[in-house]
This record gives sequence, C-alpha cells and structure tokens, in this order.
Amino acid sequence: MYNSENSIRKEIYPLMIDGKEVASMSEKTFISYCPATGRELASVYEGDERDIDLAVAAARRAFFGPWAKMTPKERSRALMRFAEVLESKKEMFAQIEMLDVGKPIQHARASTAGLAGALEYYAGCLFTLAGESINVSDHTIVDFTLREPLGVCGLIVPWNYPVNLAVLKLAPALAAGNVVVIKPSEVTPLSTTELGLAALEAGLPAGVINIVHGTGAVAGSALSRHPDVAKVSFTGGTLTGRRVYVDAAATLKRVTLELGGKSPLVVFANADLDAAVAGAYNDLVRNTGQVCAACTRVFLERPIHDEFVEKLMAKLRNARIGLPGDESTEMGPLVNQVQQDKVRDYAKIGQNEGATLLWAQDISGRDELNNGHFVAPAVFLNAKNDMRIAREEIFGPVQTIMSFEGEEQAVELANDSPYGLAAAIYTRDAALAMRMARSIQAGTVCINTSAKASVDAPFGGYKESGIGKERGVAALLEDTQVKNVRFSLK
Ligand code: NDP
Repeated sequence: MYNSENSIRKEIYPLMIDGKEVASMSEKTFISYCPATGRELASVYEGDERDIDLAVAAARRAFFGPWAKMTPKERSRALMRFAEVLESKKEMFAQIEMLDVGKPIQHARASTAGLAGALEYYAGCLFTLAGESINVSDHTIVDFTLREPLGVCGLIVPWNYPVNLAVLKLAPALAAGNVVVIKPSEVTPLSTTELGLAALEAGLPAGVINIVHGTGAVAGSALSRHPDVAKVSFTGGTLTGRRVYVDAAATLKRVTLELGGKSPLVVFANADLDAAVAGAYNDLVRNTGQVCAACTRVFLERPIHDEFVEKLMAKLRNARIGLPGDESTEMGPLVNQVQQDKVRDYAKIGQNEGATLLWAQDISGRDELNNGHFVAPAVFLNAKNDMRIAREEIFGPVQTIMSFEGEEQAVELANDSPYGLAAAIYTRDAALAMRMARSIQAGTVCINTSAKASVDAPFGGYKESGIGKERGVAALLEDTQVKNVRFSLK
C-alpha cells in the first residue's frame, strides 16, 4: 500500500527520454517543496534546450518507428494497458499530489480516480477516427480524405492538477497516433515522472512519452519554439499563454491554449438557493480555488442577495481548512508563496478599490498551518464589475459578489469580462436557463450545477480564455490533420 512516506523517491527525480531515466545535460537540480509544511520533498534534474532537443529527437524516432507501425487496435490496447497500470497506482498518485501540490487527500483521491478513465475513453474513441469520401465535381476523380496524426506534440502542464492534466493531454494525442514531450511545472514535478515510468511498465514503446523537467522560461520555451514540434498544448495563465502562442508562431505550430478565467455564477431569485450556495462554496474551497473554471464572480439577483451571502458565509465559517494528509480536510494550502502573496495582494487591491472584504475564518492562531501557504476563503461585497478584483484572475479562494436586476443585466454583467472559460446559472425557470445558455459567452455553461468539465465533453475557452478544445472527441480531432487524396480514373 502506498503512503506519504514511500510514495516519494529518495534519489534525484530524472528526466525521461527515449524510455530511459536520465540526468539533465547540465546535471543541475532544483527542489520540490511541500506547500503545506515547507519541507523539501525531493531534488529534480533541471532540463534545458539540449534536453528538449534530445527528447524531441527520441519522440520523432518513435513517431516514425514503432508507434506508427501499430494498428488502431494495437494502440487502443496499449492505452488500455496504460490505464490498468495507472489504476493500480492511483493511491500513489494521490499521495504524491497531496504532498507536492498540497491537495487534501480526499480531493487528490477523487482526482486520480479519473486517470484510467481518461485513457480508456480515448482508447475507445480512437476507433471513430476516419476520413470521408467526397463527390467532387469531376467524374474522373475519386476524392477522399485521410485523418493523420500531427507528429511530436509538446505538452506544457501547470501545477494545479499536474498528473490529471498531463493524462488529459497525452491520451487524445497518443490515441490519434502522435508522440509527446511533456514539460511539467517545476512547482509540482513529481507525479509526472511516475506517469512516465508507469507508461514504460505498461509496455508503451520508448520515446512515445518523454518528460523534461525544468523552468517554463527555458525548457518550456524551448519546446514551444522547437522546429520539430508540430503542436503545443498549453494550460496555464493567460500571460504565459500569449508567450507560448508567439513562440509557436515562428514555426506555425498548432496550439491548444487552455488559459485563465473569471467565470460568472449567476443566481436568479427563483433558484434553489441551497444548490447555488453549494456551487459557490465548492468553487471557493475545491483545490483552494486554484481551478481555471472556478466561478469567481458571483452575480445575485437583488431580492436574494443578503440571504445568499448569509448562507454562504455560514458554510465557509465551517470549511475544514487543514493539513492535506488529514482525511477530514476540505481545503489545503495554496501551492506556493507566489500564489499566497497574490491572494494577499488582491485582498488589499479590492479594499483600496472600495469593496468590502470578508474573511470567512481567522486561521492566524492555528500553529499547525504556520509553515504552509494557507489562506482562509474570502468574499468581496459591494464590488463592481469594473474593479480589478472582478476582472483579473486571482487563482485562490476568493469570490467577488455583485448584484443584478433582471435577465438583461445578468447577461450584460456576466459577459463583461475579457475571459470566457465557463459559467454557472442557477434558476428553476427552464426557458430562462436555456436563454442564458445561449447568451453567455463561455466555452462551458452549467445549469444548476457548478462549473466542471468531464473527459467526454469538449472544454476550452471563448475570448482570452484560450484557443481550441481539450477533452471529448474534439480533442482527438484537434490532434490530427486532414489530407485530401485525389485519385484519377483516367
Ligand atoms: P504559468 O502559466 O506560468 O505556468 C504554466 C506552465 O507553463 C508551467 O509548466 C510553466 O512552467 C510553463 N511556462 C512558464 N513560462 C513559460 C514559457 N515562457 N514558455 C513555455 N512554458 C512556460 O503559471 P504560473 O505558475 O506562473 O501561474 C500564474 C497564473 O496563471 C496563476 O496565478 C493563475 O492565475 C494562472 N494559472 C492558470 C492555470 C489554469 O488552469 N488555467 C493553471 C496555472 C496557473 P514552470 O511552472 O516550470 O515555470
């Protein structure tokens, strides 16, 4: 049985290139820390451009070699075997994410329980990949299309769901016949190393999955710029996403950018108020608010404003903030000092802008939390939609609460944002719900449930929340390209 002691390796965490665990060329290392306690967890080899070069070359060999020679059925079976290995190790992954990301163990388990399912979904989905036959206006031509893989895909993964997001990116890519080089976040590198080793254990050919640890500025940027990389799939902040887009443009790579959000949660007076409060609470507490799709602007129809705030604050006062290893903990620390400072800065910014800040709990006397990056959940009242706290992504357990009058104003306020990742609408009026679903400018609109994504439905933002889709069949198609074939009958 895995536990928090035996799930972390004593030796330096390697890169994985061409099916081998290797040191980085520079042999430089960096340290991964536990956000809950500040203790050093492990040393990790730090890769740079040279390691990215080696990884991309190994991936290319696999792409033109063993991976290309496999039939769809063989590729599907390989993904199913990989799923089985991940299923057998899900507790290990949960323990690592608990230590490295600071996720409460219950939440980490709920996340890693989905790892195998993502691979199984794409192992089935890949059989649907097909070209089409086209009746072109020329009787001497038989015209059809082939749907082909892209080649080497660079996957740049953030720290909020390291192993889950890596799997959600690699599963459609491999299913479509591509090979990958993964650059995990240097903040949370440990689970991705185990993911690579699990792939080898499952018998995936060497070079199909390569992993290069290192900083975003060096290793991440080298991957986005590499001429032999056909596509970059990036999840992270919008600022970094822009940089990746520019880097990828030099060689006209495909990109999928899954970026930030400031998603609205709109509650009409005729809603099930308890369900809406539960949705808002969930978005504040889950993963300590470090969720791209979390609804962080809450719009309340005026008659229910006060009752909603009262109910939400009552729940938040009882939120179980604690050490991630404690089975009863609901909310752990933020991932690092940078994120903690960011939340504290926005607390000041919001108050300077004239909003009223309510911390739900005072955790300053909790000695066991003193060494970690803990913050209490908080809401801003008396806020306006043009304040920075309503426009910028805070990425912590902070919500900005505002009121509205009527459907028209709800739509106007919800859409008045540079972002468009997700939205949640609470109402008992089905027609109103459907009108809202049509009017809201966001990639995912959830009715009477908080904003979440599942593996089998497309996910990806409108506006500055991103480009392209992850998950669902859409992700599989985005990892392919279409070739037209014209066959002369003359
Ligand atoms: P980043 O967007 O900088 O990091 C995401 C990934 O990109 C990491 O693997 C990072 O590597 C890598 N990266 C960083 N710079 C580059 C670059 N120039 N080229 C290629 N890859 C790069 O997130 P931060 O950790 O800086 O967080 C900043 C903000 O982004 C957060 O406060 C939050 O608002 C948002 N964010 C949004 C996420 C989402 O799911 N939408 C997830 C994470 C953050 P490394 O970490 O090693 O530097």
